[in-house]
Amino acid sequence: MIRNHYLDQSLDIESRINDLLDKLTIDEKVSLIRGKDFWTTNPIERLNIPSFGMTDGPLGVAYHSSHRGKKTRFPSTIGLAATWNKDLAFQMGKAIGKEVRLSGRHQILGPGVNIIRSPLCGRNFEYLSEDPILSSDIATEIVKGIQSENVASCIKHYITNNSETERMKISTEVSERAFQEIYVKNYKRIIEKADPWGLMVCYNKISGTYGAENKYILTDVLVNQLGFTGHVVTDWGAAQRTSGPSACIKAGLNLEMPGNFLLSRVYTRRKIKKALDKGEINIEDINRILKPLLRTFFRVGLFEQTNVSSQKIIDIPQHQDIAQKIAEESMVLLKNDKKFLPINLDKIRKIAIIGPNASKKFGKPFYGGSSAVVPPFEITPYEGIKNYISDKVELMSKTEDADVVFLVLGLDHGASFLLNFFLKREGDTEGSDRTRYKLPEKQQELIAETLQKNPNTVVILVSGSPIDVSGWYNDVPAILNAWYPGMMGGNALARILFGDVNPSGKLPVTYPKRLEEHPAHKSTDRFPGDLKEMKIFYDEGICVGYRYFDEKQIDPFFSFGFGLSYTNFNLSNLRLDKDIIKGSGEFTISIDIENIGEMAGAEVIQVYIEDNKCSVDRPPKELQGFEKVYLEPGEKKTVDITLDETALEFYSVSKGEFIIEEGTFSIYAGSSSRDLPLSTKLDFVK
Ligand code: BGC
Repeated sequence: MIRNHYLDQSLDIESRINDLLDKLTIDEKVSLIRGKDFWTTNPIERLNIPSFGMTDGPLGVAYHSSHRGKKTRFPSTIGLAATWNKDLAFQMGKAIGKEVRLSGRHQILGPGVNIIRSPLCGRNFEYLSEDPILSSDIATEIVKGIQSENVASCIKHYITNNSETERMKISTEVSERAFQEIYVKNYKRIIEKADPWGLMVCYNKISGTYGAENKYILTDVLVNQLGFTGHVVTDWGAAQRTSGPSACIKAGLNLEMPGNFLLSRVYTRRKIKKALDKGEINIEDINRILKPLLRTFFRVGLFEQTNVSSQKIIDIPQHQDIAQKIAEESMVLLKNDKKFLPINLDKIRKIAIIGPNASKKFGKPFYGGSSAVVPPFEITPYEGIKNYISDKVELMSKTEDADVVFLVLGLDHGASFLLNFFLKREGDTEGSDRTRYKLPEKQQELIAETLQKNPNTVVILVSGSPIDVSGWYNDVPAILNAWYPGMMGGNALARILFGDVNPSGKLPVTYPKRLEEHPAHKSTDRFPGDLKEMKIFYDEGICVGYRYFDEKQIDPFFSFGFGLSYTNFNLSNLRLDKDIIKGSGEFTISIDIENIGEMAGAEVIQVYIEDNKCSVDRPPKELQGFEKVYLEPGEKKTVDITLDETALEFYSVSKGEFIIEEGTFSIYAGSSSRDLPLSTKLDFVK
């Protein structure tokens, strides 16, 4: 007969939670909802409760939070989203889950799922997309992959933390419709499909109230509307700006982190006792807050762990292969005049590789902020190309004498997080936003100088967010966007440049022609915000990213979903398995696709839906589904994309819920948001 029911693995989690709640004293309960140190919670030896350990993500297991060790550095997640490959997202999640376990942790603080609202947000590189469907579909698979290893995924930063400027003070002002239809929708789909066990609440305020004490977002939306069953942890130190423990507890904040006397000052024993004595909260409130956290403890098997590994260096070739595959599929070919790429090594003798990002390593402690993963090695573009080419081809620094020049440009993570913070360095980095869309002056000059010496110059962009290419686009034969391609990036790059791999990445964000044409940049109130009033106004409403460019009929420089290939595909014969939906149910869109070029390759079939008539304004079309498909030359396949009625819904402010109105919907399919050659219609009745 087991007296401690909570230790009995054969019992269901909810009864184990209740048993443990009965056994914990009030002091023990309070000690559990607050960190012990930077990355772990307080253990309770009396009841055999070990510490619950966390590590930063989302590009892998971060250095500073995993015993300062080296781990697999994956490509930046904006690059993962550019693969549009859900299976790769799952594989990356699973590999990360394994490494979290090997590091002796139980939870990874990722993926970062904030919508990429502006090209200038400093953390775009660790987010996914401007579109909630692409973002949530990729995030769902990452979460499933992580949790398949019994590791909790902690999706972050909930919610509307879409820029870094004054992130600890600013209040986001978003209409209810946009809040639900863009920002909540992203979380809604991840929660419904992947059931993440953790979630991190943002630093910023939402309509005047800090996330960590915001009952509307934490209880009304997250728990009651979305059915979230996991625990909510603060962003590190976020609770200290709130009005105190009672507000956070009433709002639904489950864990204050980190446990450090400077940063964690709210869920303290003294303050909670005072709130209890004053009757602001009661013991039931504490139990309610503790329950989801205990649920996570049980879900990750905290009580059953034996032989905890805390490996410092993780050097797993299979995980590095996944990182390389993601890098290969993430790179987006933005221009390729007269089939300049791929380069045939038999036809050239001299190559020059230059540019500030050619030999730069990005995996250094705190570079870019909390997501910094330090890998056991990192193959730079220069090394990757050098290793690939045969002895017959000479590497040289004189660009004028080369047959081809690879000019590797882009952004940087600034410097270490603390330096960025104090020196206000900009780049792709946590804690600050970029102030301009163009490349730094020096790099623009370098493009001009190099082209003067050699017009056969391929520009390779290594960065985590969109870059203005308008000033030099016409002058170069080819542009490849490599994102931050991770520890195997150089190999992936070489395989694309020389044609072993056919590029198949598609942009997860729109590149405007000019920043002023972007919906988040129509005024400084929209970005970086009114910094006197400390408010940032999301006045573009639901017209985020491509939705705005479609609505205003503005041609972007590169549209959402765009990316070239070395081959061509022909899409035909769009059909539905039914032409009417009654109330609810699935429908399948089938499309035939043929590789009509000479090289094997992959295409992403994208499906967008337009509501033909609606009582409220809706964007001209919205992405609702996609599928990546691989084809040999001459091969033809049929691709099926199954959606359900939620692909037709919008958020009704008057009804306070997502609804679908009766009528006709147009369904478009193609290979980017601005290249949709196929269409058909679907009716919806209640
Ligand atoms: C970041 C989070 C991170 C946390 C812990 C915060 O500053 O915003 O993304 O997980 O620190 O390092």
